[in-house]
Amino acid sequence: MAGILVFGEVQYGAISAVSGELLAAAGKLADEGVDGGISIAVMGDDLSGVTAAQAPGTDHVITISHPSLKDGGTGGYDAPLLAAAALAESISPDVILFAKSDFGAVVGPGLAFKLGVPVAQDCIDVAVESGTGRVTVTRPVFGGNALAVYGFDGDNVQITTIRPGVFDPIEGEGSGLIEEFDASGVVSGARTTLVETVVQESEGVRLEDADVIISGGRGVGGPEPFELLQELADILGGAVGASRAACDAGWVDHSYQIGLTGKSVKPTVYLSIGISGASQHMAGLSGARNIVAINKDGDANIFKSARFGVIGDWAKVLPSFTATVRDLAG
Ligand SMILES: Cc1cc2nc3c(=O)[nH]c(=O)nc-3n(C[C@H](O)[C@H](O)[C@H](O)COP(=O)(O)OP(=O)(O)OC[C@H]3O[C@@H](n4cnc5c(N)ncnc54)[C@H](O)[C@@H]3O)c2cc1C
Repeated sequence: MAGILVFGEVQYGAISAVSGELLAAAGKLADEGVDGGISIAVMGDDLSGVTAAQAPGTDHVITISHPSLKDGGTGGYDAPLLAAAALAESISPDVILFAKSDFGAVVGPGLAFKLGVPVAQDCIDVAVESGTGRVTVTRPVFGGNALAVYGFDGDNVQITTIRPGVFDPIEGEGSGLIEEFDASGVVSGARTTLVETVVQESEGVRLEDADVIISGGRGVGGPEPFELLQELADILGGAVGASRAACDAGWVDHSYQIGLTGKSVKPTVYLSIGISGASQHMAGLSGARNIVAINKDGDANIFKSARFGVIGDWAKVLPSFTATVRDLAG
């Protein structure tokens, strides 16, 4: 079997949304000329809830079940790496895709090292170069100030990790063959084990899924204003985000951070409050449809990308804005 192998992920017992994004990337490569079909592999200790229907656009759903692969293999990295290498060596795909998630950011490069092949990380696009037919990937460089396109040399398997949130998950239901790959012989030699998983409870909409994001930066001046941001987000059914400066200051947890080293988001409306719009922050906003900025500095970089903006002190602008939105929301 050659073709494209996607290493998907399992969440709440089913193939996750980020896997659907990888399948969209794989579908694009297949449409542009990578032959051999699309397979998705998922790992876990109990994959009884995984069905072919959860993986649209694939020919094969490959499950790799073993107690060492508990929680989708995201904990003990040794076992999933051994399992991934065994599968890749067995089916020899032309292209392997991972998400740049906790799982893929570790197992992807680890697999490349084990196979002695190159890896392109944190990519935001994939394509097949017309003429040569080779796979190319696009990734932000220089802190998000430029985009570079890379091609893979030689006939090696091409491993890529893809930034979550840049492809829309493929829609529909899959009808591929589901089959188990037995990796017990290799994963039993793993030297690390997952001891405990602590689930961080969160309320409301996930940042990655939010259609409206109200985001605060250093300019809001402290942790308390984030309650006002949350109030507005609640009215609009949205989520609260933050710049790295606000997270580093300890005003909100780093799980709120948007940008190059935070989350990539794709809301319809992104309201930025007291955020300068540094390139590393903007790197997480390439999928945002409408940026609205409140900043007291009319020269702030955020205004270059904003569709609407208010030059002024957020503390004066936000309360009346929230009151108006509340009235309009009824
Ligand atoms: C390798 C690397 C990775 C990074 N990754 C990220 C990342 O993922 N995400 C990220 O966000 N940053 C990231 N950064 C940091 C980034 O470079 C900026 O330092 C950071 O985004 C600045 O945050 P800020 O806009 O909140 O703060 P500042 O740049 O300090 O801007 C604060 C803004 O608030 C405005 N302001 C102040 N008071 C008010 C007021 N009363 N009303 C209205 N406006 C006001 C100011 O005019 C200013 O524009 C990274 C940096 C590096 C080097």
